[in-house]
Amino acid sequence: MTDAIEVRDLRKTYGRGPRATEALKGVSLDVPTGSIFGLLGPNGAGKSTFINILAGLVVKTSGSVRIWGFDIDRNPRMARASIGVVPQELNLDAFFTPLESLESQAGLYGVPKRERRSMEILEAVGLADKAHAYARSLSGGMKRRLLVAKALAHHPAVLVLDEPTAGVDIELRRTLWAYVRRLNASGVTIILTTHYLEEAQEMCDRIAIIDQGAVVACDATSALIGSLDSKTLIIRPAEPVPEVPASLRGLATLRADGGLALRYSRLAGDPIGLIEQVRAAGVIVRDVATEEPDLEDVFLALTSRHGGGVTRGRDPL
Ligand code: ADP
Repeated sequence: MTDAIEVRDLRKTYGRGPRATEALKGVSLDVPTGSIFGLLGPNGAGKSTFINILAGLVVKTSGSVRIWGFDIDRNPRMARASIGVVPQELNLDAFFTPLESLESQAGLYGVPKRERRSMEILEAVGLADKAHAYARSLSGGMKRRLLVAKALAHHPAVLVLDEPTAGVDIELRRTLWAYVRRLNASGVTIILTTHYLEEAQEMCDRIAIIDQGAVVACDATSALIGSLDSKTLIIRPAEPVPEVPASLRGLATLRADGGLALRYSRLAGDPIGLIEQVRAAGVIVRDVATEEPDLEDVFLALTSRHGGGVTRGRDPL
């Protein structure tokens, strides 16, 4: 089997009549087995709807979904057993200990006692020493790791992480990603949604961008970035430039660090000509550099609501 997930013409309409919302308008995509697959899109794009259909929490309107080869209509039990979902919200039973949480989750999925690996999973997410503490006594970061552990309790082949690092501090984010990589190396296929483009760029080997319920791009991360023709020329003036000179308006933008940024086409552009234009505008050039496009550029080029709800790299805390 080459694809862990196969989705064909998936549609979801919430409600009826004039108030109906078409959240997914015919999504088709494949998630290759063994990949770390990123699902990106602005708020309201349909990411949660997509994931919730995979998880069996939302009923699709039409289309087909196969998880680990199991059709969610014809073989719902096996499909559900093949996937684990780490939800965004911290929905834990306050009176369960982490070990009890995992044991009951494994029980729900019918994993026989001798096949359960609850302690091993707690160990892996760094919660072994909290195995017998009440969930309510765990820190926010520990709760999030417990959610990951719970989603793994039935040893699913596919793990879905829905915005796993939203509001999570840098330290925990690193721990979480390191663990996700280890899981992936052990053979688990990973799907993640994130608002952090740099994170997706770093973590994912394949990315689908969805916008307004439709897939607007789906490719290997490097191909997605490589498909963008624009590069950026950065000019560092010898003396601070208070604003973009009149003759460069529409061509250049002034960055917070004082650099002048000019977009040009990788294939057809003329960076030397641009530098000459900047000099002709009276700017004394101290240094020049060029930047390759990144995922944010791809995202902006492809989605309609430019930048809406998308954070670049920076930690929000
Ligand atoms: P994302 O996760 O990308 O932010 P969602 O899947 O949550 O997007 O939402 C896609 C669209 O479906 C949005 O227009 C949203 O308002 C709508 N939607 C989501 N859930 C419901 C629901 N339970 N009832 C009605 N509309 C919904």
